[in-house]
Amino acid sequence: MASLNQEGTAGSASSPTSRWREYTQLSRQIKQAGLLDRRRAWYAAKISLNLALLAAGGAAFVALEDSWWQLVTAAYLAVVFTQLAFVGHDAGHRQIFRSRRGNDLAGLLHGNLGVGVSFGWWVPKHNLHHSNPNHEDLDPDIGIAVLAFTVGQARDKRGLVRFIARHQGFLFFPLLLLEAAHLHLASAKAIVRGRGRANAVEATLLLAHAAGYLTALLLVLSPLQSPESSRAGGSSESGGVQDGVVGRGLLPAGPDDPEPGTGDDAGGVWVALAAGAGVGVQAPGPGRGQA
Ligand SMILES: [Zn+2]
Repeated sequence: MASLNQEGTAGSASSPTSRWREYTQLSRQIKQAGLLDRRRAWYAAKISLNLALLAAGGAAFVALEDSWWQLVTAAYLAVVFTQLAFVGHDAGHRQIFRSRRGNDLAGLLHGNLGVGVSFGWWVPKHNLHHSNPNHEDLDPDIGIAVLAFTVGQARDKRGLVRFIARHQGFLFFPLLLLEAAHLHLASAKAIVRGRGRANAVEATLLLAHAAGYLTALLLVLSPLQSPESSRAGGSSESGGVQDGVVGRGLLPAGPDDPEPGTGDDAGGVWVALAAGAGVGVQAPGPGRGQA
């Protein structure tokens, strides 16, 4: 019964040998049409554009400071990081460079450092997916706890997971928001389980990603730097928690600060990124708009 169903869903009545013949024929045709040729110029342009878009997002993030407009930055950066991930995906398929080394390097920089997903963990999983697309037992991408892709999967679920799967039509897109967290977590788990030099390189790049992300958050969006804490004035400035944590010289003041510049930073506030980054953005101080 099960095999009949599978035949039905596969929608093919041909024998494995003739299917294989069809596949090799199609594969040859695709190759001859040049569809698998490497497009170096295209990747050079794509990677450069991605970096420019990322830099623009970073500049906007720093310039906006503590503002609800950062929600727009977040959505924008989500799109940009996905573009980085696409390049990582193509490196995983060894599509960018001829050498394995070149593709691995591109994959590590885009995956581990860029988006915080382990390239070494993701590539074998993704290859399994391409070798067995939509195969209930062999495609890891349809073995998702909270989703059911077949009647059998739906039947096997219990409790909360069953409830979620039952309403997956509505819950699919909200659940998709958690996929990034899942990818980060699975990557970290794979690194902890892993051994050897390649794993150490992966771990270092993932940690660099996490450190960069947290540093940017603490420098620009730290709760310690809310308008309330800057209104406290000198006391928090000398309190040093902020300075100690983020190594920052001056406190930012909310643009809506009701008290026009009482301190000597009334003219403008410098927001400095970590010393190594060497990036500074000047934002108007509280005194300027109110005066
Ligand atoms: Zn793929």
